[in-house]
Amino acid sequence: MAGRSGKIRFDVCVVGGGPAGAVTAHVLARAGARVALFVRDRPHSAFVIGETVPAETRLLLDGLGLDCFSAGLHLPGAGTMVRWGSDQVQSREAILSPFGGGWHLDRALFERQLIAGAVKSGAVMIEHCSRIETEPAPGGWEFRIDSAGPQIRAISSYVVDCTGRMARLAIDAGARRRIHDKLIAVWCVAEESSAQADLDQRIYLESAPDGWFYSARIPNRHRVLAYFTDGDLCDARLRLAANFEEYVANAFHLNAGAKDPHYRVVAGPFHVNAVSARLVRAYGERWIAAGDAAQSFDPLSSQGIITAIIGGNNAAVALVAAHSSDSCALEKFQDDLDARYAAYLAERQTYYRAEQRWVERSFWQRRCNDFPSMTNALATGRSI
Ligand SMILES: Cc1cc2nc3c(=O)[nH]c(=O)nc-3n(C[C@H](O)[C@H](O)[C@H](O)COP(=O)(O)OP(=O)(O)OC[C@H]3O[C@@H](n4cnc5c(N)ncnc54)[C@H](O)[C@@H]3O)c2cc1C
Repeated sequence: MAGRSGKIRFDVCVVGGGPAGAVTAHVLARAGARVALFVRDRPHSAFVIGETVPAETRLLLDGLGLDCFSAGLHLPGAGTMVRWGSDQVQSREAILSPFGGGWHLDRALFERQLIAGAVKSGAVMIEHCSRIETEPAPGGWEFRIDSAGPQIRAISSYVVDCTGRMARLAIDAGARRRIHDKLIAVWCVAEESSAQADLDQRIYLESAPDGWFYSARIPNRHRVLAYFTDGDLCDARLRLAANFEEYVANAFHLNAGAKDPHYRVVAGPFHVNAVSARLVRAYGERWIAAGDAAQSFDPLSSQGIITAIIGGNNAAVALVAAHSSDSCALEKFQDDLDARYAAYLAERQTYYRAEQRWVERSFWQRRCNDFPSMTNALATGRSI
C-alpha cells in the first residue's frame, strides 16, 4: 500500500526475476518480510537460454516448498554424449547417477513457476518493469519503476541485486567485478518439423579448435544448439542464421539435430555473454547480490541455475540473520561464495585441460594456463 508520500514501503526489494531473484523473494517472504520482486520481460521471451539442470535441483526446490517438476512439464535428461579430448565419443549414462539424469527445462515456464511460488508466499511482483531507477535514501533505498501502468514509487530498507551477469545495482553501488575469460555463446532454437518425434534426451557436447558445441532437446519438440567461443575469436559471419547453421552442421560431428533435416531454426542465432566472473564483495551498505550477479559460471558446468537457487536462498537467509542479530552473517555469506568460486575455477581448469589437441590455439591456451582476470571490464563497458 502506498503511504502519504505515494511510495510503497517494503522491507526488501529484489531486482530481477530469474531463478536467483524468485528464490530470494520466496525465502524472504516466507520469513515474514515485506518483499517486492521487480521483473523485467526477457528479450526473446519465448526462449530463455540455460535449460539443463542437475537432478538435485528438484530436491533442492522441493525442500524450499517450490514444486516445479511434479506436473511433468520439463523433460527428464538421459545422460550425455561427449566428444572431448579425442575423436572418440563417450557416453555418460544418466542411469549411473544416484539422482538420475537431471532435467531439460522449458526455461521461461520454469521462471514463471518460481515467481508464482514467491507470490504465493507473499512477495509482491511488479512485472513488465522497463526502467528502474534506484538511489540510496535515508535508512535504505528509493525506487522509481516504469512498468505497464503509471510510474510506481517504492522505498525499502534493503535491495537484492539479482540482475544477472551485469550486476547492474552492485556495480552502481561501487562493487568491483573480476572477469576471468571472454566466453560468449552463439545459440539458436530449432523446432522438429517431422511427424516422428525425436526421443533423444541426451546432451551432446563436443570440443572444437576455437571453442565447443552443445545441443539438447527442450520441451515442446524444440532443441537448443549453441557454440561457445571467446568474443574476440568469434567469426562475425556467425551472426547470420544461414552461416551459423552451416558452420554447426559442418563442425559439430555428433548427430545432435545439427545435421537433421527434420529440424528448422525458429529463433536466433543470438550472441550472449557467458563469462566466468564474480564480484570481489557481493554485499555492501544495505545491498546484497545473488545468482549470476554475485558470480557467474561457464555454462560447461551446467551449475548456473542450481547455484543461483542456492545463492538466492543463502542471500535471503543472510539478510534475515544480519537484520536480527548475527553481525557476521554477511561475512559468512561471502566466505561461502569465495569457497564455491575457488572450487569452480579449479574444476573448470581440469575440464579444459582434458582437451590437449589444440593447445596452440588461443581459446585452449587461455584456459589451460591461468587467464588473468579483468577487474571491472564489464562495469566500464569495455567490449570483451
Ligand atoms: C549460453 C548460456 C547457456 C547456459 N546454460 C546453462 C545450463 O544449461 N544450465 C545451467 O544451470 N546454467 C546455464 N547457464 C547459466 C544460467 O543461465 C545462469 O547461471 C542463471 O540464469 C542465473 O540466474 P540469475 O537469476 O542469477 O540471473 P538471470 O537468469 O540472468 O536473471 C536475471 C534477471 O534480471 C533481469 N534484469 C536485468 N537487469 C535488470 C534491471 N535493471 N531491472 C530489472 N530486471 C533486470 C533480467 O531480465 C533477468 O530476468 C547458461 C548461461 C548462458 C549464457
